[in-house]
Amino acid sequence: MITAKDVSWRYGAKPVIDGVTVEARPGRVLGLIGPNGSGKTTLLRLLHGALRSPTGAVAVDGDPLTGLSPRESARRMAVVVQESGGETSLTVAEMVLLGRGPHLSTFQRTGADDHEIAARCLARVGATHLAARPFAGLSGGERQRVLIARALAQQATHLLLDEPTNHLDIRYQHEILGLVRGLATCSIVVLHDLNLAARYCDDLALLSGGDIVAAGMAGEVLDPAVLEPVYGIGIRRVDLDGETHLLFQPLEEAPA
Ligand code: ADP
Repeated sequence: MITAKDVSWRYGAKPVIDGVTVEARPGRVLGLIGPNGSGKTTLLRLLHGALRSPTGAVAVDGDPLTGLSPRESARRMAVVVQESGGETSLTVAEMVLLGRGPHLSTFQRTGADDHEIAARCLARVGATHLAARPFAGLSGGERQRVLIARALAQQATHLLLDEPTNHLDIRYQHEILGLVRGLATCSIVVLHDLNLAARYCDDLALLSGGDIVAAGMAGEVLDPAVLEPVYGIGIRRVDLDGETHLLFQPLEEAPA
């Protein structure tokens, strides 16, 4: 479980996250949704400690994040941020193996178990065939899958992902989020696509202007009356065979 109480962040004089309280529960997927610039990435960074809130507190399974060593933090939380690792000369297999780092002692080298775990994680994201390729030479979507494999190899109890479906084609958008949904971890995912959020998140927090304006079970938050004023677009919700689908229409085109 990850809990943030009254966290905030400002860039210069501009408050970007303004006294936010949020909870990600064990075994569930929490989606952070909201328009561009609403503060999703900043909140995710506060939750995994890349930014330290000057107010309030973040705790992982009840332990304050500020009290965890980097190694302990990495054992508990695996993070996939956008566009990381592009400059490296490592191969894909070596990149995924880095995920085992938090489980090794200072001078310990990776062993057969670590290689096996890394290979299994690469297979889970459908990227076994890329193992020998230089990571830097991959396409955006291939990189994204490898970074997710590295996070899985970390075998942390919490997984935080910033727009993991960016660069992925439709098949892998669903495969990766289905994979995340199937994990026993507590997961937090920044998502742009509200239909993917509907399908793969248990809970949602909707951000607008640095505040959480709605939070709860996905089915409750994905209410057109809640979403329309935040996104400024007409939204129709259709529940079909137990799945929620949202249809969008620019407001000026909406029938009178
Ligand atoms: P989102 O992920 O919802 O698009 P962000 O958390 O990336 O939102 O950004 C929230 C606000 O903070 C935006 O107005 C953005 O321009 C601003 N911002 C983000 N990063 C920086 C930065 N490094 N310096 C200054 N402003 C920033």
